Amino acid sequence: MTQPIEIPADLKPGDGRFGSGPSKVRHDAVRALADIADDYLGTSHRQAGVRSVVARVKEGLTDLYGRPDGYEVVLGVGGATAFWDAMAFGLIERRSCHAVFGEFSSKCAAAAEAPHLHAPVIVSAEPGSHPVLHAHDGVDLYALTHNETSTGVMMPVRRPAPQSFVAVDATSAAGGVRLDVSEADIYYFAPQKCFASDGGLWIALCSPAAIERIERIAASDRWIPASLDLKIALDNARKDQTYNTPALATLFLMAEQIDWFRTNGGLEWAASRSEESSAALYAWAGAHEHATPFVKVPEQRSPVVGTIDFDEHVDAAAVAKVLRANGIVDTEPYRKLGRNQLRIACYPAIEPDDVKTLTRAIDYVIDALTGS
Ligand SMILES: *Cc1c(COP(=O)(O)O)cnc(C)c1O
Repeated sequence: MTQPIEIPADLKPGDGRFGSGPSKVRHDAVRALADIADDYLGTSHRQAGVRSVVARVKEGLTDLYGRPDGYEVVLGVGGATAFWDAMAFGLIERRSCHAVFGEFSSKCAAAAEAPHLHAPVIVSAEPGSHPVLHAHDGVDLYALTHNETSTGVMMPVRRPAPQSFVAVDATSAAGGVRLDVSEADIYYFAPQKCFASDGGLWIALCSPAAIERIERIAASDRWIPASLDLKIALDNARKDQTYNTPALATLFLMAEQIDWFRTNGGLEWAASRSEESSAALYAWAGAHEHATPFVKVPEQRSPVVGTIDFDEHVDAAAVAKVLRANGIVDTEPYRKLGRNQLRIACYPAIEPDDVKTLTRAIDYVIDALTGS
């Protein structure tokens, strides 16, 4: 029987949550929610109390993204996964084209295999890299994933051609990665990653072209289920509401995170925090005898989700297990990727110093496990 490995206190991060989804939620945001809970939780989402939080989210996001001309914030229930279905019903006219390079981008592509659409065009790349999208004849929507959370690859948000219509799954990028909004018509996400909230909602920044598209398809004779109808979502969002009951705590925690970003310097500040964390992580891995960043091309390495491979000298699953037993949780790799890897979130809510301390804790655990 071996002794359990005890990580010394000075090698333990202040907060042990490093999961890539959901993110660590900040203590201050939870306390702010507790402070207003009796006047907010359990109240009607059709009344001023909850609607003012929806308005705060809309206004805050528009501000965070530089108040792009004519863009509107639309939101609904069901997370990014439900948005993929809403996209198949309400945004793709005939055929979409998808950059597929991991679990989330492939699920998005699968949702576009709807009977009322033509088979999607799939442009794929090996996990650990990303493909490049070119304009295709007959494609009316290009689907990108800004940050492939399953592999830790970031893909630039760029239109394949000037007139292309672009929809971006930004679930793990929004709020932590800089963006030229003019390159996207729909920039959608769920709030449990960089926005350090809970799950259950989708939020989409929509360009004037996207609003026009939503309205045009909704006016056609296509059958669209109401809960996935983007026109209904748009009409409700304009009234600071959602079609059906939203997750109220999720909305509030997200509003707190947006305001935290804005108070400190906006998206630039949030992105810099994530960069500081991930740069430290990649530098540590790059210099390590037994570790290496999984993503080979430095520009493709995600600033918000770091994936680190280990050689046969180290059993990454055993390391993650010891970390977990010491209160440092969710460093396991994406389950289906099947690599000898640790995946460490560098979302803005996570203290850069905690990521640096974590690397020292991992070194300690490796030494203890290998007896070196
Ligand atoms: C987490 C994640 C999703 C899934 O979000 P849900 O809210 O669970 O549906 C989709 N895409 C990306 C890129 C993600 O990181």
